[in-house]
Amino acid sequence: MKITEIEAIALVWPPPEKQYWTALRPIGRVSELIVRVHTDTGLVGIGEAHGAGMPFPGIYKQDGAGNIQPEGASRVVAEVLKPALLGEDPLDNERLWDKMFALNHYPGWAAPGWGRPQIMTGMAAIDIALWDIKGKAANMPVYKLLGGTRNTVPCYVTGGYYQDGKTLADLVQECETYADMGYDAIKLKIGHVGVEEDLERVRSVREALGPDFDLMLDVNEGYDVPTAIRVARLMEPLNIRWLEEPVHWYDRVEGLGQVAASTSIPIASGENAAHRWDARDLIHRGGIKIMQFDCTRSGGITECLKIAGMCATQNVRLAPHHDPQVHGHLVAGLPVGEIVETFPEADRDPVWNELFTIRPEIKNSQLTLLDRPGWGFELDEQTLERRGVWA
Ligand SMILES: [Mg+2]
Repeated sequence: MKITEIEAIALVWPPPEKQYWTALRPIGRVSELIVRVHTDTGLVGIGEAHGAGMPFPGIYKQDGAGNIQPEGASRVVAEVLKPALLGEDPLDNERLWDKMFALNHYPGWAAPGWGRPQIMTGMAAIDIALWDIKGKAANMPVYKLLGGTRNTVPCYVTGGYYQDGKTLADLVQECETYADMGYDAIKLKIGHVGVEEDLERVRSVREALGPDFDLMLDVNEGYDVPTAIRVARLMEPLNIRWLEEPVHWYDRVEGLGQVAASTSIPIASGENAAHRWDARDLIHRGGIKIMQFDCTRSGGITECLKIAGMCATQNVRLAPHHDPQVHGHLVAGLPVGEIVETFPEADRDPVWNELFTIRPEIKNSQLTLLDRPGWGFELDEQTLERRGVWA
């Protein structure tokens, strides 16, 4: 089999109607890079990379006239990675990963104008497309290829964002709505307000939902180390399943390790890890118990399998960030898989609600994967036409 064409499509949604604040910043426009790898057999692999939230690479830019243009990872795929992969066998994912990764040694030369994050994000989308081809060629869902441990995985909802005028009662009602939808695990944002106010927020949700509901807390790198330790200890009596990215970006390994050593709450991190070496440091020096490596942001499935192997030796569980339609296969396929993240609110995450004509089902806090080859989902061509810009 040979790769004959690679499409890169930057999908960009309008800004959300409401502002959704995490600790230090609001969620911006949601964007997603879609890659379609075509082959001489007619098989087409679909890959995707998560566009929002990256510190600087992105997948699009808005020009002075307000038009959306492909940028960053979208153009790296079209102009750098595609020429490197045309004619290659798409089933050789390890060799092709190494070939693409080598471009990171001197990105200013290999991909002028862009840096390693853009290359790693472009690689993520392509690698995910190669796994789709592998599944389609084998006529198997990807989770079966990865290990086939199960076809249903637990999932949680991320919510509790800060919004203007949102009261404590509104927060509790939001969480009760998730419970009514069948969820039994919620991750709340903290760190945008003072410690006492956050403690009151989390305590109110815990009291409303009862002792058996799983509650996780996500700081999005909002604290210094002393504050993180203080908050962790205050939250301990509230039975918190994990505390996520509690420490500022500049001390996200050693400082995180100090927090992990100071609290009984398991520490989670990894959505900002670029590769296996970042992941190794988070495990060995950051003291994490929950690894959240995001295959759709950096490196793809091929890289995450190496990270999953490390997790398995260190009693660290895999709970990937975002994009459950892909990460669900990893969590389902591997015994180290713990849970996936979901965003049922259409305004917060239009990807889940608009991008697919066929997608896995979420019911009672469980995501059931499709018994179809590859990832199993189908993209909505109308959404691609409406929101997409081809690089
Ligand atoms: Mg997070």
